[in-house]
Amino acid sequence: MSVSITPRTTAAWQAADTRHYLHPFTDFKQLANEGARIIVRADGVYLHDSEGNQILDGMSGLWCVNVGYGRRELADAAYQQMLELPYYNSFFKSSHPPAIELATLLAQVSPPQFSRVFYTGSGSEANDTIVRMVRRYWDIKGEPSRRIIISRENAYHGSTMAGASLGGMKSMHAQGGLPIPGITHIEQPHWFENGGDLPRDEYGLHAARRLEARIEEVGPGNVGAFIGEPIQGAGGVIIPPDTYWPEIQRICDRYGILLVADEVICGFGRLGHWFGSTAFGFRPDLMSMAKGITSGYQPLGGVMVSDKVAEVLVDQGGEFHHGYTYSGHPVACAVAARNIRILIDEGIVERVRADTGPYLQQRWRELAAHPLVGEARGMGFIGALELVADKATRRFRPDRGATGLICRDHCFANGLVMRAVQDTMIIAPPLIMERSHIDELIEKAWRCLDLTARDLGAR
Ligand SMILES: *Cc1c(COP(=O)(O)O)cnc(C)c1O
Repeated sequence: MSVSITPRTTAAWQAADTRHYLHPFTDFKQLANEGARIIVRADGVYLHDSEGNQILDGMSGLWCVNVGYGRRELADAAYQQMLELPYYNSFFKSSHPPAIELATLLAQVSPPQFSRVFYTGSGSEANDTIVRMVRRYWDIKGEPSRRIIISRENAYHGSTMAGASLGGMKSMHAQGGLPIPGITHIEQPHWFENGGDLPRDEYGLHAARRLEARIEEVGPGNVGAFIGEPIQGAGGVIIPPDTYWPEIQRICDRYGILLVADEVICGFGRLGHWFGSTAFGFRPDLMSMAKGITSGYQPLGGVMVSDKVAEVLVDQGGEFHHGYTYSGHPVACAVAARNIRILIDEGIVERVRADTGPYLQQRWRELAAHPLVGEARGMGFIGALELVADKATRRFRPDRGATGLICRDHCFANGLVMRAVQDTMIIAPPLIMERSHIDELIEKAWRCLDLTARDLGAR
């Protein structure tokens, strides 16, 4: 059999892509009509496509390339590990140096309540693991009725059956009969959309108390955990008011339920702290990680397990019937460990906190002066713009979502990746961006907002 896999032109790549490749979260037919953008290489904070365009990556790939593209150290770590031990499992009383070294490092950079990790291949698998771990924890404690996990509407916790169920995306639930039993969702803490006339801080308390109400509704003895992203990413970079997380913590403590932070986006420096829970001042019992853990150079996820939970699972639990072939994959762990060392050695998290993060936020907020922008918000290296019809009433256009797509297309055409979540434009740039890159990002964003406004005016 002779196999040809070397189309060279953009058109040839697109034709083969359409014929053979079903993309994630994609309308297949629409993509077939338009043709995929073919990204052929990347360096630092720039992508290069098959047409020779250079594009500033305002999204770190998919929220993950924290240390930027083209890191030789990470390629070398993978190469050396593949020669040394490309694969071995951690089932059946085995272990290996990269998994052990990374576990040790993770315990050092995590908040103090964490000293153990359970490895997975992705963020979705990490959240699946959390569902099983929470329920196992309460079984062992003799409270098996505590099966319910409370999450939020419009949350994103991955795309496996449990991950999509924990998530609060209605479009995902509608395909495949989700959520699975035992998962319920409360209002998201989104002041811009739901806050009405309440001041932010009051709205934060109001949104958090939805948790208390739901616990009372389903019965405190039936609730095992609450899960939340410190900042909701895929939902549209929703930053809760400062009052929100401390109130959530109080409620979890009061009812004795486990508090779970999904740190898949916020972890590893995105908010200028190692983890989002530290930035917002709460103390999770479990946290899921992925994305920035390897800066996307290898697929890897994990769950940090607090000593409180570990004591029950380890001392009283017997065998935990759960794990993956690639749990603690040696190459992924070697790359993650090297990635974390880069974050430490180059002081990247501190730089985002004290220097480039505040600079990005200062410049990002200048965009609020644009006629289309109803709010420019952000924290560290994450940000969102609400594109509205009326600034004062925070009202979106009736064809909600159309404006965001127009703007996103202008961004790509003008050498910038910004993502659209309905009419919210979002960024999560590589943490290594310098001030000059930030200036370039703001300048391009402003130009694309102008082009979007022009198109809306012409309709
Ligand atoms: C991306 C994401 C996930 C899912 O991670 P995958 O590696 O895509 O499975 C889970 N939670 C959050 C907050 C995410 O952003």
